[in-house]
Parts: sequence; structure tokens; C-alpha cells
Amino acid sequence: MTSLDAIPALVARARVAGELWKSVPMSERVSCLKAAAARLKEEASRLGAIASQEMGKPLLEAVGEANYCADSFASEADNIAAALTSFAREDERTASTIHFEPFGVVAAITPWNFPMLILQQSVLPALIAGNAVVAKASEITPMVADAYYAILNEFLPTDVLITVVGDGEQGKALVASSVDLIVFTGSRNTGAHIGAVAGKRLARVILELGGKDPLVVLDDADIALAADFASRNSFRNAGQVCVSTERIYVDRKIASAFESAVVERAALLKLGDPADATTKIGPMSSARQKALVDQHIQKALKDGARLLFGARKQEGNFVEPTVLAGVDHTMEIMREETFGPVACIMEFDGIDQAVMLANDTPFGLGAAVFGADEVRATHVAARLTAGMVGVNQGCSGAEGCPWIGAKQSGVGFHSGVEGHRQFAQMRVLSRKKKS
Ligand code: NAD
Repeated sequence: MTSLDAIPALVARARVAGELWKSVPMSERVSCLKAAAARLKEEASRLGAIASQEMGKPLLEAVGEANYCADSFASEADNIAAALTSFAREDERTASTIHFEPFGVVAAITPWNFPMLILQQSVLPALIAGNAVVAKASEITPMVADAYYAILNEFLPTDVLITVVGDGEQGKALVASSVDLIVFTGSRNTGAHIGAVAGKRLARVILELGGKDPLVVLDDADIALAADFASRNSFRNAGQVCVSTERIYVDRKIASAFESAVVERAALLKLGDPADATTKIGPMSSARQKALVDQHIQKALKDGARLLFGARKQEGNFVEPTVLAGVDHTMEIMREETFGPVACIMEFDGIDQAVMLANDTPFGLGAAVFGADEVRATHVAARLTAGMVGVNQGCSGAEGCPWIGAKQSGVGFHSGVEGHRQFAQMRVLSRKKKS
């Protein structure tokens, strides 16, 4: 653990290193970082194994995440550099150039559920922009973060990327330090705390927060397709994905067939040892996370939800994939983020009611709409108040799209040209044009 007293001095060291780093041309910063991609690839199996052991993600998926990080690293570095390249704007009288300059020191505070990918998304644009970074990963996944950052540090000048080890206390100390931008991915409550502290000194923030994503299944939806998605997106990573499907609204006319199809799929998912290649759902990342999910399920059942599948008592930190029907918005499980392998199904009558229910949340990260008539489904999707909405697919956009939460799911965002630019101070230099 990093001592709390040491954190201001680490930020000061990063600031000194950052002064030199920002004077290195961006093309050289990119080359320096790109050299890490091959090492990440060589180490992908080891990184994945550490992540799987630390937070219970099935090994194949964890190695897949590590490989994705390695494979996308170089092209993402190029995309970031392109987004941060100066450009010109002019009218009849004025010629302007828009420049991107580093803020100084960036704090990167990250969660455990994608314990490599989110580090990369937080740190790579910050470094390419010319900032120094002080990074604090989750207390649940410190070893994989240490291994990942050690690889980047093989190629970076000393102190440009400094790591802090610890939990919320170290996070708080970092937020309270003199860092210039706080890039945070985590829960809404922690994000609100960070936003309040940073706001007092007007420090910049990018807050990528939790969600309560709805899936709307229209009456003409292909039931098998919708149930495949519902099952995959409710249970993947034991439901510990920020854009997991946490609420399902299905047209009453097809509800019964849809429920059966989801149950059929849930029953096929093997719960067990994450190292076993046939395992689809490993243990929850912590006893606290299991307790929260169990509590949501038990309260919903007590309040009248119908249990269609799962919820049997499990040893250790396991939670069975669980399917509930007859849920409603008086239940905590339909209001607060559960972050567990639970599919909660509620029936609706008519599109207006579906839209009203889907939007009845302070969250607004992702959403999905399934329906055979794509034009109609797209109209419904456009009415949902989430940052990212998928039609007959998940919410992730095409390559180059931002990753963005609306409402209380985010303040600022990352990825895509617009997201990369949030890691730098945009400046406008103008001069009068000669007539
Ligand atoms: P969390 O908020 O508990 O912790 C996230 C990080 O913040 C950890 O490193 C933690 O040590 C640190 N932290 C805790 N309290 C702090 C404080 N007061 N000040 C500063 N740092 C503090 O979240 P978690 O349980 O690690 O992650 C799960 C959450 O992350 C879920 O809500 C999930 O939806 C969200 N998430 C969002 C996205 C997204 O892209 N929007 C992606 C992944 C996860």
C-alpha cells in the first residue's frame, strides 16, 4: 500500500517528469508507447491469468481482454495522436489554429471489472497528450495493474507513469492532491464524491460511472435473437459489466415465450472454476459484491418477483445466473445497479409505456431495443435517454465512436476523436488575415 502521506510527493515527481515528457514531440511519445504493444502481446496470457485469479473472470475471457488491449494498442495510439493534432479554422477576417496541450498531471483511478482495458483507455490518451500520470487501480485487482503498468514503464521515461497502490483512501488522497485532471471509472457514488472534491478547486474530471441499462423487446422481435442477447448481456462477466442489461422490458404479447427462451439459455451456462475452459460464470469479484446481488434478489422475491431460474444458495462468492419476472419499479433491483448475473423481466403494453419505463432512471449509460421492423425499433431507440443505444445489438458503437454515459452515468467521456480530446487542454490561437 502506498502511504497516504507519500501521495503529494509522488504527484510532484510526476509533475517534474511531465515537464520533460510534454517537450518530446507527440510522434516520439507515440513511438515510445507503441513499443509496449509487442510486450503486452507476449505477456497477454500471464496478464489474463492474474486478472482471472484476482477477480474471478473466466480465464479465456480475461486472456481475451489482455489480447484485445495488446492488439488495439498501436492503432489506438495512432488514433489518439490524430485526434490531438493541431488544425486550422478561418473566416474572412481571422485565421485560427486549434492546439492540444497537456494539462499537467492526470490521476487515473480505475475499477476491477475490466482490469486491463480500463487502464489502457484511461492512461494511453493521457500520456500521448503529453501528461504525466499517477495511476491508482482497484484494490481488488492490484497485481494485474502492477503487471500492466510495469510493461508500459519498460518504455517510458522515469516518473512519467507512477502507480499508487491502495483502496478508496489512496483514491481520496489522490483526488485531494494537486492533479490537474481526474480520469475516473467506477460507481456513481464514488464519482459524485470525486466530482464534489474536484469541483471545489475546479480540477478537470472525466467520470465514467455506473448504469442500469434497459433492454426493450418489441412485439415483433425475433425472440431467439433477443433472448440470446438478454442472456449474454445479463450474465457475461457474472453481470459485472457497466453496460450489462439490468432491466428487461418485453411486450406482454410475447412475454411468456421470451421468458422461456431466456431461462433455457441461463440453464446452459456453467458456473464454476474460472480456470476451466467450459466455465461461463466465475465467482463474483468479492464477498461484498455477492452479498449485494443476493440482497437485491432476495428483496425482489420478498416484494413479489417470480423466480423463473437460479438464485439457489451457493458456496463461496458464486451467484447462479438468475431470471426474475414480475418485477416493477418499486423494487430496488429495478432502480439501483445490481452488477450481478440477474435478468429482470417486466412486461409492458405499448411503446410509450416501454419508453417511459426504460427512461425512468437517473442512469443513462447504455440501452438496447430489439424489433424486426428496424425503422420502428430505431425510432424507439432514439427516444431512450442513454448515451449509447443499440438496435438489435449491444450499445457499443462502431470503431471511433465515443464511450459515453448520459445523465448520472457520466460527466465527460473517453474514446473517439471527441473523447481523446478531453485528455488535453484545447487552445485557440488567432491572427488577423492580411487583406
Ligand atoms: P468503485 O467506485 O467502488 O471504485 C472505483 C475506484 O475508485 C477504485 O480504484 C477505488 O479504490 C477508488 N475509490 C473508491 N472510493 C474512492 C474515493 N472516495 N475517492 C477516490 N477513489 C475512490 O467502483 P468499482 O466497484 O471498482 O467498479 C464498479 C463500478 O464501476 C460499477 O458502478 C460500474 O458500472 C462502473 N464502471 C463504469 C464503466 C463505464 O465505462 N461507465 C466501466 C466499468 C465500470
